[in-house]
Amino acid sequence: MGITKDAYLRAQDQQAEAEELAVERGILKKCYLHSDFTYQVDDDLERMYRTAAWKFKRGEISGQFANQLELTDALKAAVENAPTKCPRCEKMRDED
Ligand SMILES: [Zn+2]
Repeated sequence: MGITKDAYLRAQDQQAEAEELAVERGILKKCYLHSDFTYQVDDDLERMYRTAAWKFKRGEISGQFANQLELTDALKAAVENAPTKCPRCEKMRDED
């Protein structure tokens, strides 16, 4: 149970870090109304991977990534799971 929870928290941490990196690289954008939500604005994943790999090698990635592959996987997931528009804004529009 303890191990499962740790793995879960570690994954959460990795996702958060990956999202930050993607925002930093301009691949994801934080909604200006809802800072908890990000959406995809660019799909140049190769460029993001390269920058992330470079930063990882320099020890500039603070997340709990054991290796570069984990980092790349987290980035891929963060971008692939991201909507193309802020879901909260979309919902508000639907409710109008
Ligand atoms: Zn929004």
